[in-house]
Amino acid sequence: LQNILPVDNDLLANVFITVKTTGRNHLIRLPVIIKTWFQLAKKQTWFFTDTDDQHLSQITGGHVVNTNCSATHSRRALCCKMSVELDVFLESKKKWFCHVDDDNYVNVPALDELLKLYNPIGDWYLGRTSTPNPLQIHTKSQKTTFWFATGGAGFCLSRALVLKMAPISGNGKLMAIGDRIGLPDDVSVGYVIEYLLKIQLTRVEQFHSHLEPMRLIKKDLFNEQLTFSYSLDNEPNTVEVEGFNEITDPTRFLSLHCFLFPESPCCFEK
Ligand code: UDP
Ligand code: MN
Repeated sequence: LQNILPVDNDLLANVFITVKTTGRNHLIRLPVIIKTWFQLAKKQTWFFTDTDDQHLSQITGGHVVNTNCSATHSRRALCCKMSVELDVFLESKKKWFCHVDDDNYVNVPALDELLKLYNPIGDWYLGRTSTPNPLQIHTKSQKTTFWFATGGAGFCLSRALVLKMAPISGNGKLMAIGDRIGLPDDVSVGYVIEYLLKIQLTRVEQFHSHLEPMRLIKKDLFNEQLTFSYSLDNEPNTVEVEGFNEITDPTRFLSLHCFLFPESPCCFEK
């Protein structure tokens, strides 16, 4: 089914996809995204960054938001970006918010299929955990635990849920939450949803971050997965897929894309 290239279509018409990025990643991480899965969700996908970039804006049809958050990997900067992502989503009137990192590949038809299973009128927090245990928070009187979806695997929230979060964490208030608990953006989102709003994460194992070994994802199940990732540190962690060589395609995303959608124009470029 998915070997047919989805043409400009209604896939994910109700979804707002945010890609968190930073100035210094624009030329390193974004080209392969823009060449591959972005082409299947151009209208739905927006890049949230921290610098102006005319070229990026031009090749994405203006789908770039300069959050004016600082260009650092600090907790505050990341919470700031997430906060802007959520605020801009609310303005979009779309039914679903899905966040990914700039080292994620999004399987667009699979994400569309997933979201069809849930009603965005309900409160949905869909994602994958990557800790063996829930996080523990010590408040004045008690110990409590909560789960959070790993940001680096991607996660989705229904509009109803983001509307409930807005009074608590909207309009930049996610930064204050992050400061209060001293934890990163994805954890802060989990804290607001699971701990403050008492809405539980629905675990969806088909989201993947590079905290898991990518080679464990089997080829015959690629088309069911929602996201993939990579890391190219000293010990590279990439999807195992044949296709382009490692020099042309170090992240393996181009090969993965051509495995899933062999008819894509980028699969024939020299
Ligand atoms: N990121 C950012 N600002 C920074 C560093 C990273 O917005 O100063 C973003 C980056 O673009 C990515 C995410 O944060 O979407 C995670 O960064 P990275 O993959 O480099 O590190 P990880 O946390 O996955 O090890
Ligand atoms: Mn990463």
